[in-house]
Amino acid sequence: MTATIIDGKAFAETLRGRISEHVAGLKRDHDITPGLAVIIVGHDPASEVYVRNKARQTEEVGMNSFKYELPETVAEAELLQLIMDLNSRDDVHGILVQMPVPDHIDAVKIINAIDPSKDVDMFHPQNAGKLMTGQLGPVSCTPLGCLMLLRDLHGDLTGMDAVVIGRSNLVGKPMAQLLLRDNCTVTMAHSRTKNLAEVVRRADIVVAAVGRTEMVKGDWIKPGATVIDVGINRIPAPERGEGKTRLVGDVDFAAAVEVAGAITPVPGGVGPMTIACLLANTVTTACLINNLTPPSDLTA
Ligand code: NDP
Repeated sequence: MTATIIDGKAFAETLRGRISEHVAGLKRDHDITPGLAVIIVGHDPASEVYVRNKARQTEEVGMNSFKYELPETVAEAELLQLIMDLNSRDDVHGILVQMPVPDHIDAVKIINAIDPSKDVDMFHPQNAGKLMTGQLGPVSCTPLGCLMLLRDLHGDLTGMDAVVIGRSNLVGKPMAQLLLRDNCTVTMAHSRTKNLAEVVRRADIVVAAVGRTEMVKGDWIKPGATVIDVGINRIPAPERGEGKTRLVGDVDFAAAVEVAGAITPVPGGVGPMTIACLLANTVTTACLINNLTPPSDLTA
């Protein structure tokens, strides 16, 4: 058996098309242009590329993009002040601080300073609480993207056994909550889980969000299962030339593709969905801030 390859790039493009239509509708009917502010501190090349892509895609769907590049040495108080200013601006509906921030800045303080109604990556505990209690609000972008891919593939997820490997606040925990909300029977696995291979073998859906190169082996996968590989790991690729690298996931793709029913590749699977969902969340927050019902095809 060879698995269906889930094309996150194509799905994200379709999603951005829908977002553009909703943005045009908000402008036309309500004179609202959703605005997304992204703050980056320091000069991490990977983060800079990511932030540039975010800004480009934000503008492509017709939204306003505000980018703030702060030096590595910026004082915590200055960053907090910028967040306060953005919190109070009517043309900003989403605020994202690119993590990690340098050590002299308290990340928790930063996260808690973001107005929860503009917290488009669900960093704020108030939004994590909303997800847990089933209230409408922004949902962490990567898990939202994974859920959209799973719903597109399966329709109804009710009754499926799902294993989420990884329990971070940004990916693993919200992913598990979303699957629970969609009536899956959810197991959360982590670094202390015993017999992980056995746990994964029971699952109809496997979401791997660990950050360890090809840790999930092909023979861990139940035949026909759906595998969502969130991991992004950069490894040396001497076959591409000296000093070259390539990206791989947390799943041994070559082996898993022979067993799974469907699988996301790395790159081209979950990654493209994350930025698209950031844009979707900005439309959602722009609607909620203006007492409008967010489009149901952009929310969890
Ligand atoms: P974190 O480092 O915050 O969390 C990793 C999780 O993996 C932890 O819960 C940890 O368990 C668990 N873990 C570590 N080792 C093992 C192991 N041997 N067996 C089982 N579980 C283990 O990472 P993130 O959640 O932020 O990200 C995970 C991966 O997803 C990374 O590769 C990251 O780059 C990628 N990512 C990709 C995105 C995308 O757009 N595609 C977006 C965000 C992240 P414990 O809690 O016990 O330590």
